[in-house]
Amino acid sequence: MTSRTDHTALFIDGAWRTPDSSETIQVVSPLTEQEIGSFPASTTTDVDAAVTSARNALRRSDWAELSPTERADAIRRFADELEKRAEDRATTVTHQNGMPIELARFAEGAAPVQLLRYYANLAESTPPEERRVSQPMPGTTIVRREPIGVVAAIAPWNFPAVLSMFKIAPALAAGCTVVLKPSPETTLDSYVLAEAAIAADLPAGVINVVTGGPEIGRYLVAHPGIDKVAFTGSTAAGRHIGEVCGGMLRPVTLELGGKSAALVLDDADVEQTVTGLATASLLNSGQTCYMSTRILVPRSHSRTYIDAITAMAAGLQVGDPMDPSTFVGPMVSARQRDRVLSLIEQGRSEGGTITTGGGRPTDLDTGFFVEPTVFADVNNASTIARQEVFGPVLSVISYDGVDDALALANDSEYGLGGTVWTSDEERGIEIARRVETGSFGVNTFNLDWGSPFGGVKASGVGRELGPEGLASYQQLKSIFLASS
Ligand code: NAD
Repeated sequence: MTSRTDHTALFIDGAWRTPDSSETIQVVSPLTEQEIGSFPASTTTDVDAAVTSARNALRRSDWAELSPTERADAIRRFADELEKRAEDRATTVTHQNGMPIELARFAEGAAPVQLLRYYANLAESTPPEERRVSQPMPGTTIVRREPIGVVAAIAPWNFPAVLSMFKIAPALAAGCTVVLKPSPETTLDSYVLAEAAIAADLPAGVINVVTGGPEIGRYLVAHPGIDKVAFTGSTAAGRHIGEVCGGMLRPVTLELGGKSAALVLDDADVEQTVTGLATASLLNSGQTCYMSTRILVPRSHSRTYIDAITAMAAGLQVGDPMDPSTFVGPMVSARQRDRVLSLIEQGRSEGGTITTGGGRPTDLDTGFFVEPTVFADVNNASTIARQEVFGPVLSVISYDGVDDALALANDSEYGLGGTVWTSDEERGIEIARRVETGSFGVNTFNLDWGSPFGGVKASGVGRELGPEGLASYQQLKSIFLASS
């Protein structure tokens, strides 16, 4: 970034609001380690204003009571305005969190626009009411889908734009209003979102953005004016949010951490598998929740795979995330880099064998970089195989037979993603059916806007995306009629 971006206002009630306090939060570039911008730190008074604005917008007839087509038109206008700003948003994300720019152009620039259009279409094609023949007594029941209300959307720093949109797009399509709280590391791009909302003439209060860290998040989650919480982030924070929402009987969606497995079968093509694993296990420098970071290989092929995975990881270009050929950028922050390095150290101290990487790259003095690192012959009980690292660190684990591979894959606190690599797709689908997870890929892992995404076990509760994602922002009302 050539110049700093310093924001002085908050986006609340459709306009730029002077913050309640003069306190600011600084954004640090993970590449240069220099400050690149700042924004105001919201206070609880700002959060109150945002929630009030979202509640008022819900009551006004210009949002929740629009017809699905009218609302879809507004969402499409928003998508068009966001599309004009897609490059700005993608580069802003890359400058904040180090995401390789080609990935940011798709995930943070184009994908949020696609999601808005997907949900605009779905809102239009999902009738808000249906009539059913009553039973056992004669009559008719009207089943209505109504917006759940004001949504608190809390996003992490790893894919800030698209993960916010996993929540905003279905919420708006359902007729809800939103208070978004991005991560402090990646808040600058939400100003681009706000500019697009203004340019699209979205009704005031339909989207509001509050800033700050966990404390402001906690205040928002427990706010009496919130009707649903949609959270993506760590399992530790998700557990806390789940407890609060449980106590309040408040609907909540939790998209949490993962430690997914890649099951490499004995019939897989080594080269194709290892090429696929680069994306399935190291996308966004490993800072992606559904990565297949435990690579399970047949013991009889283990030397071949360890060598091939080591060569793949060692060959990845590490460096400036604005360079289109970079595959591994810096970690988002010094804290995250230190966390990754300390888990590598723990893996080493538990007797793990590192075949490539294992520290900071010697040729990059500045920036929060970690070398792509491969642990060979890992025991699935060791820390490096159990804890989510959230960095470019892979564990290769040998198995004896498919049942052993499945037992290892399922021997995890988490269940978010996972992959199988095989030359026989049917065999792969059979494996997919037996893995305890919310999503799984056969020779690939690609999210699908039209199909649900989420986790089982400690990876979360509820689903985003697809019609199921829309349904989670609606509540159902049954109206019983005497007439048949
Ligand atoms: P984090 O839990 O520290 O923070 C996520 C967001 O929640 C931030 O905006 C933070 O300010 C806020 N927050 C933290 N504690 C809170 C609390 N008690 N109440 C309310 N808000 C709170 O997570 P992170 O470090 O930003 O993100 C990385 C984590 O996110 C990883 O564990 C990763 O696996 C997970 N993740 C999951 C998915 C998924 O879809 N399952 C996707 C991306 C990331």
